[in-house]
Formats: sequence, C-alpha cells, structure tokens
Amino acid sequence: MVIFKHVKDVKEYIAMQKKAARTVGFVPTMGALHEGHISLIDTAKAESSLVICSIFVNPTQFNDKEDFEKYPVSTEQDIEMLVNAGCDVLFLPSVAEMYPGGTDKIKEYDFGYLETVLEGAQRPGHFRGVGQVVGRLLEIVEPEYLYLGQKDFQQCMVITRLAELTGLRDLKVVICPTMREADGLAMSSRNRRLTDPQRAIAAIIYQCLVSIESKQGNTPFNVVRKECEDLMTAKGFVVEYVTLADATNLKLLDNYKKDTPMVALIAAKIGEIRLIDNLLVGSRES
Ligand code: AMP
Repeated sequence: MVIFKHVKDVKEYIAMQKKAARTVGFVPTMGALHEGHISLIDTAKAESSLVICSIFVNPTQFNDKEDFEKYPVSTEQDIEMLVNAGCDVLFLPSVAEMYPGGTDKIKEYDFGYLETVLEGAQRPGHFRGVGQVVGRLLEIVEPEYLYLGQKDFQQCMVITRLAELTGLRDLKVVICPTMREADGLAMSSRNRRLTDPQRAIAAIIYQCLVSIESKQGNTPFNVVRKECEDLMTAKGFVVEYVTLADATNLKLLDNYKKDTPMVALIAAKIGEIRLIDNLLVGSRES
C-alpha cells in the first residue's frame, strides 16, 4: 500500500493509474478503523482496480469541540488493517493540506431539508462540514465509485445529493450494509470510548430498532417509540430521537406506512458517547 500525505502527490499517482485504465474506488474515513470500514474496502476491491482509503478527522464537521478532541486516533493499527485488507492507497492529509485557504474559506453546499432534521437538527453545521470534506476529497481523488456505510443513513443521502450538486453524474455511490458486533451493536469508532458497563447495554439501541421493525402491523408506531424511549431511558441512555422515516427522502412518519420503504433511526447518548443506528423497515401489506 502506498501512503500519501500531500494532495499533489496523490493526484499525480491517481492520474498515472487512471492512464493505465484502473478504475478508482474510494472509501473516505476518519480512521480508528474497524471491520465496518474494512467491509467497505472489501466491497471496493471486488469492483474497482485501484482502492483508495482516506483517513482525515475533519474538524469542520464536529459541532462539539470535545467530541473532536476525543475522537480516537490509531493510525499505526489502521495502516496494518488496510494493508491486510489489500487497500492500494492511503491518503492521510493534514488540515492545512486539505484546506490550504483555511477552514473558513471552504466551498459550502446547501442540502436543504436534509440539514434540518435528525442529525442535521441535533448537530448544527455537521452536514455542512461533511459536504466540505467530501466535496474536497472527491475533487482530489476523482473516483468512479464511492463507498459509504448505511450506518450513517442520513449522511449517505447528503453525499448522494452532494454528487448531484457538484455535477458528478457518473460517480457511483455504493451504500454498504452496517457491520455489527455479535450482540447487534453497530460497529463504530466511538464504541472504543465506552466503558464495560456502557458497552454491556449499548446493543439495546439495535434491539429497539428490531422491535420497531417487528411490531409493524401489530402496534402503532407512537406506542413502539414510547416503549423504546422508556427502555433506553431506564437503562441510563439520554435519548435524542427514535424515529420512523420514509427511506427515500427522510420525511418523518407518524406511523408505519403501507407501500413505503421505511427506515427506523435512533440517536442516544450513553454518558459522553453519542451513538446512532438505523434499520430499514420493509413495508408490509395490510
Ligand atoms: P467514519 O470513519 O465513521 O467517518 O466512517 C467512514 C465510513 O465507514 C462511512 O461511510 C461510514 O458510514 C462507514 N461505516 C462506519 N461504521 C460502519 C459499520 N458499522 N458498517 C459499515 N460501514 C460503516
């Protein structure tokens, strides 16, 4: 695996590889890699002949300074995992390299409604930051394929919209399934910060998502939502949202809706650690 820290160098390398007819598959990350990230690399490897991963903890997408400062960093271990996964290129830029004009002079995109709900509402400015960093990375890497995790469902929608806004009509955005621990907890870099007792209850988020899916047709969603909120609160979570939405546009739903692809989404904090997860809820005939 070749590692680049400078934009100029990685661009030159990619241009050379493209001349040799290699198709570029790109996996942007913030590092502290786990099997979820590696599943994206594996999918990329199956479809692209040059797999590029980036590790960059983007300051502009953190609305919470402490969350940014405490974001786990494990570059040596990440490199080892990427080498083992057969990743071809790692791009590891600094903030100055990514944003040479400073962080207040970066191109911004308007994601409209998507910025006003759920993660957009809970983390003001977050998706503006995501748009900035992914926009910049796509300018640098110019991939044919972009691999994202369904774990960040709303982010997938924002980045798909970004590709439209930037005119990248040929970019194929590939959304990969969420990798989970044995008890159902979605893998996340933030899980490393959970204490043992916190880790022991963290999978309740997934259990709630499963109950939202399984109670469709038997119980109104507002009752299921209340059960989930009560259960999580009783275990010590601070619940931010337990929501059902139309999976095609993220419009929030009051109840299960026939003939509509739905997604259940939860955000909750355990102590300092904020966790999010989601599950697609197939619509059933009533
Ligand atoms: P992050 O490093 O958290 O910014 O994530 C980088 C990419 O990995 C994003 O596209 C995430 O959605 C994806 N990702 C994170 N966790 C998982 C997971 N458990 N399963 C699959 N993809 C994931």
